[in-house]
Amino acid sequence: MRSYNSFDVLQQQVAEAAKILNLDHATTELLMWPQREYKFTIPVRMDNGEVKIFHGYRIQYNSARGPAKGGIRFHPDETVDSIRALSGWMTWKTSVLDLPLGGAKGGVVCNPRDMSERELENLSRAYVRAVVQYIGVDKDVPAPDVYTNPQTMAWMMDEYETLMQVHHPGVFTDKPQQIGGTEGRRDATARGGAVAVREACKVLGIDPTGTFAIQGFGNAGQRIALLHPELLGGGKLIAVCDSRGGIVNPDGMNPKELVTHKLKTGSVVGFPGTRSIPRDLVLELEVDVLYPAALENSINEDNMERVKAKIICELANGPTTPEADLFLHKHGIHVIPDILASAGGVTVSYFEMVQDKSSFFWDEATVQARLDEKMRKAYHTVQEAMREKKVHPRLAAMVVGVARVAEACKLRGWV
Ligand code: GLU
Repeated sequence: MRSYNSFDVLQQQVAEAAKILNLDHATTELLMWPQREYKFTIPVRMDNGEVKIFHGYRIQYNSARGPAKGGIRFHPDETVDSIRALSGWMTWKTSVLDLPLGGAKGGVVCNPRDMSERELENLSRAYVRAVVQYIGVDKDVPAPDVYTNPQTMAWMMDEYETLMQVHHPGVFTDKPQQIGGTEGRRDATARGGAVAVREACKVLGIDPTGTFAIQGFGNAGQRIALLHPELLGGGKLIAVCDSRGGIVNPDGMNPKELVTHKLKTGSVVGFPGTRSIPRDLVLELEVDVLYPAALENSINEDNMERVKAKIICELANGPTTPEADLFLHKHGIHVIPDILASAGGVTVSYFEMVQDKSSFFWDEATVQARLDEKMRKAYHTVQEAMREKKVHPRLAAMVVGVARVAEACKLRGWV
């Protein structure tokens, strides 16, 4: 596979959407770049007494529609360009869902698997010290992403409130519920994806109780294993993989027991009743629905011809390359693009911000019903754009997202 620079991909997507929307040169240029980028070093005292220097980023792509919003990831492979791309995708994601938010992303280049709990806490708090004046409930609101979680948010929120001497729980989302988190946030990304698949099955006339497979078994992957059958009224999970390998059972596997096995052993591999397969083969099986829930560029020109799913629901950010996108569309595979399919998480993050602001918390049924409504509406808006502009689903979602941000920039007099 050729190597991809995610930011090049993002810029290409913006240029295509801008062309369809007939945006002027200044607007297009503005939307092709992040508004603000912060890069900093983060010294952290490690358990062995030595100080290690980490490199951190927070990139605010656009805030014309509201405070910048997006996760912070801890991952060894991050670069300024990967965070730029991810911050752009957050901008289109909040816009496609019509949330009054902008887009941002943060990251630290590190390998959390080699770090102790205390080192991770030190790193999280030091990250906040580096960005404290750039974030805030009405400025930029981070959340978890790859290898960060509600505990990370709890440390970060505490550091922020300690430094600022305020009580502003809404400055981070996906916090533990005891300190201002919301009901329904942990399964929100998966739930949003399942709602999109439910709507897609209706539009395409596909039986929603058929087979499905999941690539990646972190938070989103585990939750979709449990939620797909619940929201679609059935469905057989026949293959799963994580970083250690893949497993298959054509007769289906029990999602609950699989999650327990993963949490106990650290991997899906070795789950009783399944056969081991190469990790990437999970993407190539004959299934009704495929959920890519790992990292970027998994479906690319090397394997796109072997993909046989009817619907691909992208719970990961950027799992399909531009070539693969065109190929899949041409061959009748319905891709629900990341900026729509994985938007359930940030939608419930927005609900969390609203609840924190008013100090009044909703029950789980209310969160779920409001998420369902937002996702359903966004799915059909993108469908409509697809028909009207005669473009593939990702471009249609980009057109919807970019149009709204462009309008906000215009109204503010930026362009
Ligand atoms: N990290 C998640 C995403 O990529 C959630 C972001 C948020 O809730 O702000 O959508």
